[in-house]
Amino acid sequence: TVRTRIAPSPTGDPHVGTAYIALFNQCFARQHGGKFVLRIEDTDQVRSSAESEKQILDSLRWLGLDWDEGPDVGGPHGPYRQSERSDIYRAHSEQLISKGHAFRCFCTSERLDQLRAEQMANKQTPGYDGLCLSLSEDEVSKRVAAGEPHVVRMKVPEHGVCVVNDMLRGEIEIPWEQVDMQVLMKADGLPTYHLANVVDDHLMQITHVLRGEEWINSAPKHILLYRYFGWDMPQLCHMPLLRNPDKSKLSKRKNPTSIIFYQRMGYLPQALLNYLGRMGWSMPDEREKFSLDEMVEHFDILRVSLGGPIFDVEKLAWLNGQWIRDLSEQEFVDAVQKWAFNSDYLRPIVPLAQSRVETFSELVPLAGFFLTGKVDVTAEQFVHKKLSQDDVRKVMQLLLWRLEALRQWDKDGITAQIQQVAELMELKLRDLMPLLFVAITGQASSVSVLDAMAHLGPDLTRFRLRQALE
Ligand code: ATP
Ligand code: GLU
Repeated sequence: TVRTRIAPSPTGDPHVGTAYIALFNQCFARQHGGKFVLRIEDTDQVRSSAESEKQILDSLRWLGLDWDEGPDVGGPHGPYRQSERSDIYRAHSEQLISKGHAFRCFCTSERLDQLRAEQMANKQTPGYDGLCLSLSEDEVSKRVAAGEPHVVRMKVPEHGVCVVNDMLRGEIEIPWEQVDMQVLMKADGLPTYHLANVVDDHLMQITHVLRGEEWINSAPKHILLYRYFGWDMPQLCHMPLLRNPDKSKLSKRKNPTSIIFYQRMGYLPQALLNYLGRMGWSMPDEREKFSLDEMVEHFDILRVSLGGPIFDVEKLAWLNGQWIRDLSEQEFVDAVQKWAFNSDYLRPIVPLAQSRVETFSELVPLAGFFLTGKVDVTAEQFVHKKLSQDDVRKVMQLLLWRLEALRQWDKDGITAQIQQVAELMELKLRDLMPLLFVAITGQASSVSVLDAMAHLGPDLTRFRLRQALE
């Protein structure tokens, strides 16, 4: 039976690209009466977080996607979180070493940096030069016994080409010389993406790997690993990446990429999912509006077109409007309640607003900015008694950059970033705050803007700062 998977790394905001790939995997599995698996690839301990994992699962569920096996629903091939499978990878790495397909490498990062610099200077493709391949077994054992830190690398053929079979592209040829002796196990004893991904796809009996085209260059390494282990290859299918309207790769600098942003802006999940289904794919009759069930019913992966699909927020808004108009009045009410008129969303606003209103009718003028996307502001509102217009822009730009890089989104984290910008600009925090009030709330004063930013979340906050710069 067909088995597909989505394998997100919980290292940041839940990306619309992840939902897009998940959607196509789910459709492909359902169309064939197969299973769709969700696996969390959290081998990068520094960048992964439980918070990000939860946001990814919640966002995909919000969209209406559902998986048959995964960390939250279990299944016969678990655990479905790579951080809980370390022993499995270690055993497989040992197996490759004992079969002579992989080797231990003791090279220091200084040596590797120097090697890389030399290769770059000579215009060579950077890559490992194979120094540790020549170590004798004796020497390796001695250095391991002495506790010397090392990684495990895979061997790679020196000559010839690797032929990658792609369901959409046919045969892709990649010379082995371009393939690096990839690290499989890091010095901390954890696997890299490549080893963990191949081992898990095999053990989870994945038959079709539908993923973004950024992974094509990794395919030769994966093909080699399957060969070394003596396993059958799943079919590979690399999907075109989503693009900004200017054709560059979709990026959060130019377009909001987080699913949470679209949720907060009040898009319907069915509409966003519908739009993602229009990315490189169309219904046989070219209709624009269709449900997930309809997509499954008519699905054909071979109708994916390879021209980069453009994720255009205006088209998405148009499609969302179509969905909104087709709601019954009661469905509309239910959807709006689900969106923001519920305890989860309103509760954190109460402590900010309760002491500042005498009647409920004052609530919307005071805190209505929690329920809008853009806030309407004029240039005059940004006139500052101590700063020139240029400096005001500089402050806003610095804030935006700082907040784009902020990983832990809470009041303390946000405050620290703002304080640093204030210091950089030799301002008092008090002098900087009015600008923030205007950008975030649209008013010169309102409820605590730091609490407001924490509650609005990173996506809407950054969106408003970006709007203020326009
Ligand atoms: P990058 O770091 O490559 O510029 P990013 O920081 O916006 O992208 P990542 O955190 O690297 O996003 O990726 C999160 C997930 O979203 C990954 O699974 C990745 O494959 C997917 N993704 C990122 N960009 C795109 C895109 N343009 N189209 C489809 N999927 C994407
Ligand atoms: N963890 C990888 C990612 O974040 C999975 C890539 C794959 O599907 O093989 O995109």
